[in-house]
Amino acid sequence: MTRAISILGATGSVGASTLDLVRRNREQWRVVALTANCSAGELAALAREFDAEIAVVADESCLGDLRAALAGSAVEAAGGRPALCDAAARAADITVAAIVGCAGLRPTMTAIRRGGAIALANKEALVSAGPVMTAAVAEHGATLLPVDSEHNAIFQCLQGGRLADVRSITLTASGGPFRTWSAERLARATPAEAVAHPNWDMGAKISVDSATMMNKGLEFIEAHHLFPVGLEALRIVVHPQSVVHSMVEYRDGSTLAQLGPSDMRVPIASCLAWPERMDTPCDPLDLAVIGALTFERPDEGRFPATRLAREAAHAGGAAAAVLNAANETAVEAFLAGQIAFTRIALVVEQTLERLDPPPPATLDDVLAVDAEARRRAREIMENAASGR
Ligand code: NAD
Ligand code: MG
Repeated sequence: MTRAISILGATGSVGASTLDLVRRNREQWRVVALTANCSAGELAALAREFDAEIAVVADESCLGDLRAALAGSAVEAAGGRPALCDAAARAADITVAAIVGCAGLRPTMTAIRRGGAIALANKEALVSAGPVMTAAVAEHGATLLPVDSEHNAIFQCLQGGRLADVRSITLTASGGPFRTWSAERLARATPAEAVAHPNWDMGAKISVDSATMMNKGLEFIEAHHLFPVGLEALRIVVHPQSVVHSMVEYRDGSTLAQLGPSDMRVPIASCLAWPERMDTPCDPLDLAVIGALTFERPDEGRFPATRLAREAAHAGGAAAAVLNAANETAVEAFLAGQIAFTRIALVVEQTLERLDPPPPATLDDVLAVDAEARRRAREIMENAASGR
């Protein structure tokens, strides 16, 4: 029996890993929608290869190129944000939400409202929308399968016991490419250095988040929504080898961990096959070759992002949406060479200090908070640049 799959963000790193697994099991899948921001040529090539029903570019100005690249094929072409949501609303057994940033929130929510399984990579959407998203999942009977390797690990470890019996959940963090750098050196870190992650090959934004440790901050909030054990029971430990992907400690003192290679195809395969298992081409884990697994406490002096995220999670309401939007804006500015690496967390902290909107109750409320926080973050960066 074939299963229908849609991939939002098909041209990205998670999109490519997902399609690699689909390609290896071609006869088991029917591809419904593939989407991208622009990259029309790349998207069209994938849509042709996988006989997709529809290919969508979120940026409408790229639709002409997409149409041209799909000429003569049976693939429908569409463009613009409403078209992206229309595609997410098409029937599919599983939707992989792999757009980067809060830009993926509306299409992900559209897929959730359709019911069915959502393999969620797009952590920014859950961080921003929090209870609005989890309530929609419950209301529409959707199944949220976490793609993020840590959350996928926790999800697997939770098969070994009940949530009520969990004493703590520990997220592991690689520490990123600057784990051992001094504060002085961090201030001079360049975008090229930040995107060169030692263990994982990922998109630019999450690579910078990994370098600032904001990725772990976002994942802390993500875990809080996915696995409601209480904020006090959520921990972070730095584990540079990225072999233990996270752990769950139960009340009897047993800790279950999930281990595997640092290859996103492992957690993605776990979502695609869930509750079954499927083959992946990943190298088997050889602990004797790895030799040592080490763990250390995060240094929130050099990397304040996890503290900011924890505070935002405790504050609740709109704080996480503000944190995420400010971070997205600051990361874009850093990647564009406009601000220093160490300014990213400062911009996030200042935006949180200056903006305290009421708790968002609807998707539109969340998107309004997101837009306002981006404006504030840009203002903070402009004022700093002009010395005000
Ligand atoms: P990426 O930059 O490689 O790809 C992002 C995808 O989203 C592309 O297809 C792009 O065209 C699309 N996109 C970008 N901006 C868009 C917009 N404004 N509107 C619509 N589509 C847009 O990113 P990635 O590394 O694949 O990460 C995707 C998501 O998965 C992120 O939320 C990230 O945090 C999460 N994630 C990634 C990894 C990883 O290993 N790459 C691991 C865990 C979680
Ligand atoms: Mg992760």
